[in-house]
Amino acid sequence: MLSRPRLTIAQTARVFATLSLGVAVAVASSVSAFAQNVPVVRDAEIEALVRDYARPIFRAAGLANDGIDIVLVNDQSFNAFVTGRRLFINTGALMTAETPNEIIGVIAHEAGHIAGGHQQKLRDQLERAKTMAILATLLGAGAIVAGATTNSRGLAGAGMGVAAGGGEMAQRSILAYQRTEEMTADRSAITYLNATGQSGMGMLKTFHRFQTALSLSGAQVDPYRISHPMPQDRIANLEVLVKQSPNVDKVDPAALQQRHDMVRVKIAVYMEGQATASRLMRKMQGSLAARYGDAQSTYLFGNIAAALAKTNALIKAQPKNAYFQELRGDILMKANKPKEAAEAYAKAVSLDPARSGLLPVSLGQALMAVGTPESLKKAVVQINNGLGRDKENSAGYRYLAQAYGELGDIPGAELATAEGHFYSGNYKDAKIFAMRAQQQMKRGEPRWLRAQDIINYAPSTKIK
Ligand SMILES: [Zn+2]
Repeated sequence: MLSRPRLTIAQTARVFATLSLGVAVAVASSVSAFAQNVPVVRDAEIEALVRDYARPIFRAAGLANDGIDIVLVNDQSFNAFVTGRRLFINTGALMTAETPNEIIGVIAHEAGHIAGGHQQKLRDQLERAKTMAILATLLGAGAIVAGATTNSRGLAGAGMGVAAGGGEMAQRSILAYQRTEEMTADRSAITYLNATGQSGMGMLKTFHRFQTALSLSGAQVDPYRISHPMPQDRIANLEVLVKQSPNVDKVDPAALQQRHDMVRVKIAVYMEGQATASRLMRKMQGSLAARYGDAQSTYLFGNIAAALAKTNALIKAQPKNAYFQELRGDILMKANKPKEAAEAYAKAVSLDPARSGLLPVSLGQALMAVGTPESLKKAVVQINNGLGRDKENSAGYRYLAQAYGELGDIPGAELATAEGHFYSGNYKDAKIFAMRAQQQMKRGEPRWLRAQDIINYAPSTKIK
């Protein structure tokens, strides 16, 4: 079901930095002149939460019976869209939304577009980027300047300096074309929300915010707003539908709201810096989310012993929270206590209901740091386990190659390096390492065959 350009973006995700531990930052290299770099962030907790938001909606829309890939984009602006079984969402959207329902509503609306088969072509990533660039140009200098003065790089770079004059007609026709599809998607969204017993108030709130934000007061331009025109009659229609629903007054379950708050705080601490994080934590004062943010902030910017004490207190409050254990592991790694870190990560792995592939890789890294032949062997098992759950984690292959190398398994290291290149979209290097690996392998053994797959792979063919 995956369209090729989208696949290419995932395949080209390239890790360029790791924020201490825990949150790895990757960059997908641009595959067209229009596509700006998409800074993808990986995080087990955030991915699991968004997947939990999306799963029932996708099911109600008849879209996915199997897993949904969540792609977190490190961008402060508001954006979210679905293609195939991938859901792209900006960290800025999660930060902005005060309740899960606001995000769930947007996902429901996007699912409505997919289920309705709207603008199939436009909805693949590259075309979409192109459309947004065109729309940004058409919306005129005001929007562009507002975008350029802020952080919204996707738009600022796209149509800068181009006057809107002659584009007015085109703008009107594009917006008119979109209008019916938007209203259809709104109606579908309400159907899915009703089917899952959820309110449409969050979606309405989000769209209201976009509508009133149109004053272009120098606030940043949200790509979502530009791809989603919000004329008065559309909002009015939606409002009627939302208020007619028997679920209008339903609120998110307290446990889900708490997870949402914890994710918002996490994004604030790791992505937005201390000032934003402190502001958000003050709003949530006394809550577990605020304490989580405080522990993370202390780990990143403060005293390690204090961070550990705060995290231990969190674990006492929620002994089954996998991500508190993950944080404990991160802290212990920073404290240079890999053996204890491995114990914490092992707990995180066993407690993680979402079975994220990221946590076993963290466990593997800690075991590698322990450094005994025994722990290296365990590291290989864990990293392979993580990569089995999440094949596109290209950083994982680097650690795997290193672990094999330290164990003296050179062909294993070369094959892991080949896989890492392969999933980063560097097919040429992938083939070179696959051939080197094969030279030291028995012809026809499973690893030899995998190497052969990489050698035979032609980028123009669809995989998976
Ligand atoms: Zn829409």
